[in-house]
Amino acid sequence: MIYEPKCKIDIEIAADSQISAVDFENIEFGKIFTDHLFECDFKNGAWQTPKIRPYGPISLDPGARVFHYGQAVFEGMKAYKDDDGGVWLFRPEENFKRINKSAKRLAIPEFPENYFFEGMKTLIQMDSSWVKSGLDNSLYIRPYVIATEAAIAAAPSKEYKFVIMCSPAKAYYKGKVKVVFAEQYSRAADGGVGFAKAAGNYAAQFYPTNLANEKGFQQIIWTDANTHEYLEEAGTMNIFFRIGDRLLTAPTNDRILDGVTRKSIIQLAEDFGIPCEVRPVTVKEIKDAARTGELKEIFGAGTAAVVSPISAFEHKGELFELEDLPGSFADKFKNRLVSIQHNAADDEHGWRYRIK
Ligand SMILES: *Cc1c(COP(=O)(O)O)cnc(C)c1O
Repeated sequence: MIYEPKCKIDIEIAADSQISAVDFENIEFGKIFTDHLFECDFKNGAWQTPKIRPYGPISLDPGARVFHYGQAVFEGMKAYKDDDGGVWLFRPEENFKRINKSAKRLAIPEFPENYFFEGMKTLIQMDSSWVKSGLDNSLYIRPYVIATEAAIAAAPSKEYKFVIMCSPAKAYYKGKVKVVFAEQYSRAADGGVGFAKAAGNYAAQFYPTNLANEKGFQQIIWTDANTHEYLEEAGTMNIFFRIGDRLLTAPTNDRILDGVTRKSIIQLAEDFGIPCEVRPVTVKEIKDAARTGELKEIFGAGTAAVVSPISAFEHKGELFELEDLPGSFADKFKNRLVSIQHNAADDEHGWRYRIK
């Protein structure tokens, strides 16, 4: 083990590793956690000395503000292992900036950059045997911040806990994803918190998503809250449409999350010479293109699934199906991204970040 963090971190090493009990070939996403946990508390107006300790429960006062008012934000990122045992992150400075952007919107104090990077590096180096090589494997990293002060008044907390936990992940084939375009519910509103990874955004999606599931659809494509005429996000992913050989994706705004995968695909499209229009995309133009056969692909983009192709969509009771496309843009982007992430392709944009 190599860990010489550039800031003080109190480290307690787990007595036993749980790794031998894990069947890495059959991992359910986000259910198994590595041996260690990073924790840092905010109190008396400052972030305290971080610690890394054996994975295990957190003890909170039942009055902790997060329980009443959902003052909480999170991030989602991954570590990848190459065939020589090198371990890498992908554009982690984007996640660092974003968690603080989310935190600011939720009136949570910003987290220091050196604690974020030194904490994450040390934690992942300690648990690096949990990152398996191979393009299908990764270690999902979940940083989050919760309001811990015991108080019932609806006001920002004076105390917080920043946590980083890790979970081994395997790429899996989810089958064909059928979606509905939202006509009634919304995930975000103008001036709201849609651009932030705020915990409450996700809880608010569960009920409408359950309704879609009951009708046989796996996900909801979120439309703008005012008119439901513009297509904005795919569940918890950004969304791309391919009409002919052009890509379309909505511009980011305060309703749309500025995804690292989305940003990277826009750059790869440029590298591949694929025109990509970043502009509002209407339900009408997508239905029209589906009718004429010009609509070739729809896919979601996000860290967890990378690229998730959509095979059919429903709107106002009408179902539109997309044909399977050999040599799809979705595959092209996914293969290139995953290869860059695993140090198996040139990194011309400097996206990889070495951990080990
Ligand atoms: C996290 C997230 C995304 C994808 O962001 P990545 O940085 O690509 O993982 C897209 N939409 C929503 C709502 C998200 O929470």
